[in-house]
Amino acid sequence: MEVKVAKTAGFCNGVRYALEMTLRAIREKKDDEVICTYGPLIHNHQVLMMLRERGVEEVRRPEDTRGKVVVIRAHGVPPEVRRALYKNASRVINATCKRVARVQAVIKQHAMKGYFTVIVGDEDHAEVIGLKGYTAGRGVVIHSPEDVEKLPQEWDKVLLVAQTTQNEKIFQEIESRFFKKYPNGVVKKTICGATKERQQEVKSLAACVDAMVIVGGYHSGNTVRLVEVARSTGIPTYHVETENDINTSEMRKYKTVGVSAGASTPQWLIHKVVTTLQSI
Ligand code: SF4
Repeated sequence: MEVKVAKTAGFCNGVRYALEMTLRAIREKKDDEVICTYGPLIHNHQVLMMLRERGVEEVRRPEDTRGKVVVIRAHGVPPEVRRALYKNASRVINATCKRVARVQAVIKQHAMKGYFTVIVGDEDHAEVIGLKGYTAGRGVVIHSPEDVEKLPQEWDKVLLVAQTTQNEKIFQEIESRFFKKYPNGVVKKTICGATKERQQEVKSLAACVDAMVIVGGYHSGNTVRLVEVARSTGIPTYHVETENDINTSEMRKYKTVGVSAGASTPQWLIHKVVTTLQSI
């Protein structure tokens, strides 16, 4: 089988940086040090297992970082959590992605001027929870164009931003409804370039193959969105976490398959999926 691999498949800069910082902390660790991450470092079971094997703990409450080295992941955290981590941990490695930090800063600046913030994203996602923390209690999360109609009309100062890995097309629809409702509203285009390029490449790759395989965690939001983008082109699309999830008899139907992967999928996993497909 011929396999075409997307150039943008795999780690984005933010995830790569967070993982590199964590691996460096492991290498330089003193004997009595314990390293932990605040929440799962990335949405990929295989990488998390590798970190666990190297002694990295995952904690979910700031008080559980007491005396430990803690890594803040690429998604960032709300300001009160950040303060609590600096208070409790022996050392904080802040691996918040620079682009996410920029969105946090934009929200904070507008919140200080009294703005309400509308965040397009997944309410339970760590990045969105972090962003909402900067809205001074005036933040609302929406995720569909219809949700704009439910926002209060009387808001006079309103900012619209997106979680960095949101779907570009949906954001554009939300933006046009937002301006109809709030002609003086402020829109900041915060979808990460890496996300846009990845989605764009999946679309163009889907146009020249028989089927698409997207590699990444089943709970990884940006991977799930890549699957949606591929499916929206009408092509058969398969979401796999590892090469073991490939249904070989099913894949035999195809001559050419395109492969892309979410921002938290390591190259070695993509490589295993590609070689398995090539052997069919
Ligand atoms: S997708 Fe973009 S904004 Fe999000 S962590 Fe990766 S590089 Fe940063």
